[in-house]
Amino acid sequence: MTNRALNFNAGPAALPLEVLQQAQEQFVDYNGAGMSIMEMSHRSAIFEQVNSETQQLMRKLYGIPDSYKVLFLQGGASTQFSMLPMNFLQAGKPAAYVMTGSWASKALKEAQLIGETVVAASSEADKYNRIPELSSIVVPENASYLHFTSNETIEGTQFAQFPEVPDHIPLIADMSSDIMSRQVDISQFGIIYAGAQKNLGPSGVTIVILREDLAASNPKHVPTMLRYDTHAKADSLYNTPPSFSVYMVNLMLKWIEAKGGVAALEQYNLDKTKLIYDAIDQSGGFYRGFAQTGSRSAMNITFRLQSEELEKRFVKESEQHGFIGLKGHRSVGGLRASTYNAVPYENCKVLAEFMDDFQRRNG
Ligand SMILES: *Cc1c(COP(=O)(O)O)cnc(C)c1O
Repeated sequence: MTNRALNFNAGPAALPLEVLQQAQEQFVDYNGAGMSIMEMSHRSAIFEQVNSETQQLMRKLYGIPDSYKVLFLQGGASTQFSMLPMNFLQAGKPAAYVMTGSWASKALKEAQLIGETVVAASSEADKYNRIPELSSIVVPENASYLHFTSNETIEGTQFAQFPEVPDHIPLIADMSSDIMSRQVDISQFGIIYAGAQKNLGPSGVTIVILREDLAASNPKHVPTMLRYDTHAKADSLYNTPPSFSVYMVNLMLKWIEAKGGVAALEQYNLDKTKLIYDAIDQSGGFYRGFAQTGSRSAMNITFRLQSEELEKRFVKESEQHGFIGLKGHRSVGGLRASTYNAVPYENCKVLAEFMDDFQRRNG
């Protein structure tokens, strides 16, 4: 167990060693049940307990009001891109999207298949290297909802503050790459959704936090599995849930609690990213951050070097030193370090030191 990779993967991503070890301990025999959690009925008392405790932990740690439902669904955040417009895009009322990068674009594309959409703001002209000014976001009075991506995983940008909408327009956020990495006021939102595999666990489960009125009833023509009311009424147990993934999220939430909760984690995450942003900013231009300073993400740090050749050398050498996942996404190029909740401070420190050392040898 001493041979852990220095894992900066964008997703699925690092999990805490303690969480993996606890899962390992319970893997074959869950608390004396004589079977693995994977072998149990999802209708069993044991799994129902895991399901409801996971919900409750999330409510407690993230400050989710009682007037919201917490759902554990399948299909990834990508299925939410379709489910949202299928359930909430009404005829004659456009869905508004803030265009911040790759994931926002995918979300918009799905809504366009369903109905009328409008771009409320966009930073495409700047290659999505920044978050649009909140004051530049224009939401039509009759919009069905406003959708935005709180953290753009590929470009490495993040909203510092969230868009404001009138009460009758639900605010919907794709928080796939920053859910529970910082404190948020849930009551600002109609819906928050996220795949678990970046900040909260393994792949296979999608977390949806939605206001009760939005979970109450959906248009009759929407298929049963793609309706929020189906899953809300059944407490996420309408059909077979991704039980092992939910269990892993449960362990991850307990780890967050032991760390001091989301507020403590937020500071921890900022301390981690500061190490790496400092290495960029103090390199005299050897490393160049992709995101504009005011839009920088505390989750995905994107940066470039002077040439692609040097970038290739950086990736190769980093791998020789035990680092994983530092190659940037092909659409942005360069390098990317993802520093989600479970990535240890110590690993970020080792990366910052490696960056300094690489510069000394190649600068
Ligand atoms: C990873 C990611 C997605 C896609 O998630 P899947 O679970 O793979 O569908 C969507 N949005 C953002 C912001 C992401 O980071």
